[in-house]
Amino acid sequence: MPDSAAPLDRNSIAALLDRLGVPPAAYRDGGLPVRSPITGAEIARVRTDDPAGLERTIAASVEAFRAWRLVPPPRRGELVRIFGEELRAAKAELGRLVSVEVGKIAQEGLGEVQEMIDICDFAVGLSRQLYGLTIATERPGHRMMETWHPVGPCGVISAFNFPVAVWSWNAAIALVCGNPVIWKPSEKTPLTALAVDALFARALKRFGDAPADLARVVVGGAELGAALVDDGRVPVISATGSTRMGRLVGPRVAQRFGRAILELGGNNAMIVAPSADLDLAVRAILFAAVGTAGQRCTSLRRLIVHESLHEDLFAKLARAYGQIRIGDPLDPATLVGPLIDARAFEAMQAALAAARQAGGAVTGGERVLADRWPQAHYVRPALVRMPSQSEIVLHETFAPILYVLRYRDLDDAIALQNAAPQGLASSIFTTDLREAEQFMSAAGSDCGIVNVNIGPSGAEIGGAFGGEKETGGGREAGSDSWKAYMRRATNTINYSRALPLAQGIHFDL
Ligand code: NAD
Repeated sequence: MPDSAAPLDRNSIAALLDRLGVPPAAYRDGGLPVRSPITGAEIARVRTDDPAGLERTIAASVEAFRAWRLVPPPRRGELVRIFGEELRAAKAELGRLVSVEVGKIAQEGLGEVQEMIDICDFAVGLSRQLYGLTIATERPGHRMMETWHPVGPCGVISAFNFPVAVWSWNAAIALVCGNPVIWKPSEKTPLTALAVDALFARALKRFGDAPADLARVVVGGAELGAALVDDGRVPVISATGSTRMGRLVGPRVAQRFGRAILELGGNNAMIVAPSADLDLAVRAILFAAVGTAGQRCTSLRRLIVHESLHEDLFAKLARAYGQIRIGDPLDPATLVGPLIDARAFEAMQAALAAARQAGGAVTGGERVLADRWPQAHYVRPALVRMPSQSEIVLHETFAPILYVLRYRDLDDAIALQNAAPQGLASSIFTTDLREAEQFMSAAGSDCGIVNVNIGPSGAEIGGAFGGEKETGGGREAGSDSWKAYMRRATNTINYSRALPLAQGIHFDL
C-alpha cells in the first residue's frame, strides 16, 4: 500500500491550497484545528469568524443584493458558467482536497466536484428559464400573470460529508435567481470551503462587474450558524445536517417568518423482491451501504429481503463484504476510507452493541488499521441480521452498518420501510412491474427519493433532492427547486376602461 502520510504533511497541504488560490493567512495560525481523517493528524488551523465578522458579511451581502437583483438572469448565468470553468480546471486539486479533508476515496472526491460542475451547467440553462405562468382571468380586459423575483441573501449551512457539493446545489441556483450567498460550512471541513471561495473569486474577477460580496464564507461552529439563522436580513436558510440540528434551526427560522430549506438525516431502505436481479442488487447494495464509509445522507442502512432469497442474498453479500478493500482513500484500489472522527467510531460501536442487545447477529464493524494510523478511525463495514426492526434500526447511525431484515408480503415490506421517522431515499429491486409501480404509488414508499433497480444513493442533480418527515421536507438542486430561492408576485393588469371586481362584487357609490 502506498504511504499516504507523506502527501498529507503541512507543506504538501499548503502547496495544494496554494494551487487552489487559498492565502496562507486563512489557514496557518487560526483558532480552528483541521484534521485529516486519513491519518487523524492536524493539517491546518483555520481563521474563524466572530459575531462582528458575521455582521459585516451579512451587511455586505445585503449591499451586493441591491445590485445583483437588477442584473438580467442570463447575465447572472454567465458568472455561474465561468465558475463552472474554474471548477473544471481545478477538478483534480479540489477533488483531492475533498478526499484529504473528509476521507472520501479519490473517485468520490472527484465525483463531488463533478456534481458541482453539473449543477453549474444546470443553473446556466435555468438562468434563461425562470418562467412564470400566464393565468386565465375572470375579468374582461384584464391579464394575470406571475413574476419571479430575487429574494435576498441566502444562508447555506452545510454538513461535513458533502463539504462542497451541497453548497453548490444552493449557490449555483441562488446566484442565477439573483441572490447573494453566505456559507457556513461544517467546522470539520473549512478548507474545501476556502478553496471554493478562492475559485469563485477567480470567476468573479473574470466576469468583471459583479458585486464583490456575492458569495461569502464564514467559518465557525454551531453558534455562528445559529446567528446566521436568526438574522432577519437573510430570508432563506438552507441547512443540511442532522435532524437534531434541523429541530433547532427550523423553528428559529419560522419564528422570524424566514424560509427554511431543511436537508436532514436519512435512514434509507431497499426492498429486494423475489424477482430481483440479484447480481445487480448486490452491486447496488455494496455501493450504497459501504460507499463513503456509510457517511452519505442517502447511504443504505436497512435491507428488507424477501424470505425466499434471504439466505442466498446474505451469503452473496457476506462474500462481497469480505473482498472490500479498506484503507488510504487516495489509493485507487481502496473502496472504503476512514470515518470522519473518533465520535463517529464510538457512535458506530454503540449502535452495534445496541443491535446485539436487540438480538442482532453482527458480522464486521471492528476497527482496522489502528496500528498504522492510531489517530484515525477505519472500520470494517458491518452486516447485521436483525430479528425485527427494533429501535436502533430506526435510528440513523452515520457509519457503514447495514441491518438486514426479512419479509413475506410486499405490503409488510413497504410498511417496514415507511416505519422509519426519516423519509429521504428508498429503492426496490424487482422485475415485477406491479411491485415496482406499487412501490412508487401513493400507497408505496413515503420518501422523497423512490428508485427502482438502483440503490438509494448517488442522485443526479437534475431531479429535486430531499426528503419527507424528519428529513425536513426541503428540496434542492434540479427540477423546480429554484422556486425556493425566489419570491413570487402575482400581477393583475387592467387594460380596460372599466373596473370590474372579482367574484362579481358590486361596490358603487
Ligand atoms: P451536524 O448537524 O452536526 O452539522 C451540520 C451543520 O450544522 C454544521 O455546519 C454545523 O456547524 C451546523 N449546526 C449545528 N447546530 C447548529 C445550530 N444549532 N444552528 C445552526 N447551525 C448548526 O451534521 P454533520 O455531522 O456535519 O452531518 C451529518 C448529518 O447530515 C447526517 O445526519 C446526514 O444524514 C445529514 N445530511 C443530510 C443531507 C441531506 O441532503 N438530507 C446531506 C448531507 C448530510
